[in-house]
Amino acid sequence: MPTPPTPTPTSTTLADRAAALDAADALAHVRDRFLLPEGVVYLDGNSLGALPAAVPAAVEDAVHRQWGTDLIRSWNANGWWEAPVRTGDAIGRLVGAAPGQVVAGDSTSVQLFNTLLAAARLRPGRRLLLTDPDHFPTDQYIADSVGRLLGLDVRRVPAREAAAVLAAEGPDVAVAAYAPVDYRTGELHDMAALTAAAHAAGALVHWDLCHAAGALPVRLDAIGADFAVGCGYKYLSGGPGAPAFGYVAHRHQAEFDHPLTGWHGHAEPFAMSGAYAPAPGITRARIGTPPLLSLIALEAALTAYEGVDMEALRAKSLSLTGFFQECADSLLDGLGFTMATPREPARRGSQVALRHPEAYPLIAALTARGVIGDMRAPDLLRFGFNALYLTHADVLHAVGELRSIVTSGAHLAAEHQQRPTVT
Ligand SMILES: *Cc1c(COP(=O)(O)O)cnc(C)c1O
Repeated sequence: MPTPPTPTPTSTTLADRAAALDAADALAHVRDRFLLPEGVVYLDGNSLGALPAAVPAAVEDAVHRQWGTDLIRSWNANGWWEAPVRTGDAIGRLVGAAPGQVVAGDSTSVQLFNTLLAAARLRPGRRLLLTDPDHFPTDQYIADSVGRLLGLDVRRVPAREAAAVLAAEGPDVAVAAYAPVDYRTGELHDMAALTAAAHAAGALVHWDLCHAAGALPVRLDAIGADFAVGCGYKYLSGGPGAPAFGYVAHRHQAEFDHPLTGWHGHAEPFAMSGAYAPAPGITRARIGTPPLLSLIALEAALTAYEGVDMEALRAKSLSLTGFFQECADSLLDGLGFTMATPREPARRGSQVALRHPEAYPLIAALTARGVIGDMRAPDLLRFGFNALYLTHADVLHAVGELRSIVTSGAHLAAEHQQRPTVT
């Protein structure tokens, strides 16, 4: 009997696959922990996570009861004083950090400056700071500033070449500062391998987890990471301007000599001493008064992860990104797109980026149709997948809309050519 020809995937077969994958989704119930607007497919949770359902009531309580009624008593009565370390521990559970090593507060840029400089101070006499030429801009700018302050040469070495440089010039390297996920292409680097290469050279490693925390399993303690920071408003969905976090491994805390010696990190903050004496443990990584309304929102947002196994989350995230690539292969073929994100699951974070010369107007036209992604100059369309609230049906819908826009030329309309301040 002749073998029947392999059917080319059509949107009907893709729809069947999406339905089957969604029916088998063990995390489907978690979507109800988010308040998503009707008719929107939100693929920008890697820039600003969607609103968790637990947040509005927590913020309402923080404003009216805690601030409005309890007033200053809230520092003791409502746990305000402990909030940075308590929330840090909640984040620690998602990034493989045992309690007492993570503090929440300030922005990623501030946490990065504080911990990167402290890391470099732990390796005096070594003159090199390695960082990625493709690192997020703030990470490169702050590495340069730390370099100027401490007299270090900042050398930009791509993540995939860092192990070789560490092997060759290791004794000169103080710190290697990298991100596990490339914020543009979503490429995932091997954290354990780079950490081991840094340690073999006697250097320290500093990880920026902005695109990893809450998106995939991170094992800071298990791989022996030294320092890390991450964002509260991306996958963790803590809200606009949510506090960031910093990780200082237990073994470095006693020597942790950071530049931002604020009074909340003092051993006895209310002794009001004129001389700084660092608190023991992670508390010394605290800086000053935290933005409590935002911190309370972040703490409430993290409850969306209750009972969620990070391995199951990773499996769903890979299923969503893999399905997006499959849909793009069949629906966008020949329409001028190239895939910027690796196809091997082990090399993919939780986003997919496509290159297209018309990236900006395409994203604008998609947004007008309720499919929200973003673009990164010059030609990347970037789609982030938060597996807590997205479905495979959402993925197919998004790619289908993109196909419809390109084939109809809807993105060529004048209204989609104007670039706003924030892309
Ligand atoms: C999002 C992001 C930041 C943002 O820093 P902010 O201080 O919050 O503005 C920094 N680094 C990386 C790698 C990021 O992805």
